[in-house]
Amino acid sequence: MTVITRFAPSPTWYLHIWSLRTVLYNYLYAKKHNGKFMLRVEDTDRTRLVEGSIENMIHVLASVWLIPDEGPNNPWEKWPYYQSERLEIYRKYIDELIEKDKAYYCFCSSERLDNLRTEQKELWLATKYDKLCRYLSDDEIQAKLESWIPYTVRLKVPEARKVIFYDTVKWKIEVDSKDIDEQVLLKSDGFPTYHLANVVDDHLMWITDVIRWDEWTPSTPKHVLMYEAFWWEAPVFSHIPLLLWSDKKKLSKRTWDVAVEQYLEKGYLTEALINYIALLGWNPKTTDEFFTINELIEKFNLKQVHKSGAIFDVERLDFFNSNYLKKSDISDIYNKLLTYLKRYNSDFYDLLQSFPEEYNKKILSELKWRIKKFDELQNLTTFFYGDAKNPSSDLLMNEKMKITDLDIVKKWLELTLNVLQSQSSDFESVDDVKNVFVEKIKEAEMKNGQVLWPTRVALSWEEFSPGALEMMYILGLDTSIKRLENTLKTLWQ
Ligand code: GLU
Repeated sequence: MTVITRFAPSPTWYLHIWSLRTVLYNYLYAKKHNGKFMLRVEDTDRTRLVEGSIENMIHVLASVWLIPDEGPNNPWEKWPYYQSERLEIYRKYIDELIEKDKAYYCFCSSERLDNLRTEQKELWLATKYDKLCRYLSDDEIQAKLESWIPYTVRLKVPEARKVIFYDTVKWKIEVDSKDIDEQVLLKSDGFPTYHLANVVDDHLMWITDVIRWDEWTPSTPKHVLMYEAFWWEAPVFSHIPLLLWSDKKKLSKRTWDVAVEQYLEKGYLTEALINYIALLGWNPKTTDEFFTINELIEKFNLKQVHKSGAIFDVERLDFFNSNYLKKSDISDIYNKLLTYLKRYNSDFYDLLQSFPEEYNKKILSELKWRIKKFDELQNLTTFFYGDAKNPSSDLLMNEKMKITDLDIVKKWLELTLNVLQSQSSDFESVDDVKNVFVEKIKEAEMKNGQVLWPTRVALSWEEFSPGALEMMYILGLDTSIKRLENTLKTLWQ
């Protein structure tokens, strides 16, 4: 049997970090078993639709390479994929449940149900339907239907038995049927609830494995009862634990800091994001931490997913991302940077395009060791893509390095300028700059730090920048000479 998993989002918001983990586990599991991963849109709750959310999800999933094998964008056998387009299908199955006496009409008004809920809450009881309509006679039902009283259809939960299912992550789950609410399956507007549509579609779409987050565990016994009622084989359930912030608070649902797109916007690399998210709550049982998507597929095992909540820690994500940046090949990362900028920072993209590619790559080769993610790049490179700020003497002073006398600093900078002016052609590499300078500094009986610190400052006029040798290599002779001359002229004339 082909393994088929699915991601079944409701279009109520953008793709969250924890949904990304759900998608990823579904994807890894399907790929590991040479199966298929589907996308289905659960849009039956019409009051909670958020416009553009599905487009966002599809776009974000494609950006992180988790492309469903089948879904609204690449329809195939199981079309349609929007539940709102499958209403007739659910109607047929609801009729079947009524016919089999596994579901019943409920004519209770929402007012009655609200009052019931309030009463139960006041008495500290679980809020559940009190089964009033379960015991209506056939004649009563017929009469109410004929008088067009609005109705819902509810699941008829068998009395006095245990509902048992096995969960890959949480193992055996056993619930007393008296604790299961007689869930509404069909709403009075003719739309199914999540529960009915989810079960019917998982069956019709041949879903073999349902991997979803823990919040749905309490609903699963109702689903199990429906599978039984239809005489269908239930899929294998795996409920994955919640994600928490490092302060152990549950990730809130609708703040932008949980939107995956926000992490793309900040310039995290897909491979780092996927690698980090995969390890949230799953222990691959090795000391290695860095895995490509193919390695993740090979290693993934649902049985190694933890039962308790996993912590989403942005600092760990930064650690993963900067590692990926450091080890990546410069052409590859440069292309990724361009793709990122084109989408999220077109001004900086245009600026970069107006400089030679070789120059941009030199900068990136240096900066990839210093940044955690792409969005830090623009601020750290202003002096490469524009003029340096105006020289100011206080930036040149450095107590720690015992640089406190401006007149001496002048001599050091003059040395740099002389060395640069005596070069006949641009430096070939940072090592090339280093060899030249180390020798000249030694000859002049000065110390490396004394010369290179003010040189670095004079080339960037920023508190932080790459070192002097790297700066001279990247900026080239002409610009470096101009900046030093400008510094000497401004501060000592
Ligand atoms: N539509 C549900 C959700 O968005 C899907 C739950 C499931 O995977 O069964 O959480």
